[in-house]
Amino acid sequence: MLFLLAWPILVILLVIFAMIYNDAIKRGMHPTTAFLCATIAFTIIGIIIYPAVRNIIGKKACLKCETMVPEDSKYCYQCGERFKG
Ligand SMILES: [Zn+2]
Repeated sequence: MLFLLAWPILVILLVIFAMIYNDAIKRGMHPTTAFLCATIAFTIIGIIIYPAVRNIIGKKACLKCETMVPEDSKYCYQCGERFKG
């Protein structure tokens, strides 16, 4: 399942790299400086977003009480609701 997400992410990254490169050239900036700035900016964004996203990926919400439980759970540890499949 996750490997299916890898290709679109790779394409998006290449598009972002191309955009940064073109923007750097347009502004008369050295592409390396632009990539360094972008890397620092994306790292900071990642650090901010990661704690929120890690609680969603690989989890599902219980239909009864909306508690986030691991995707492969057979039942909700909060209310005891059983999951199909
Ligand atoms: Zn529940």
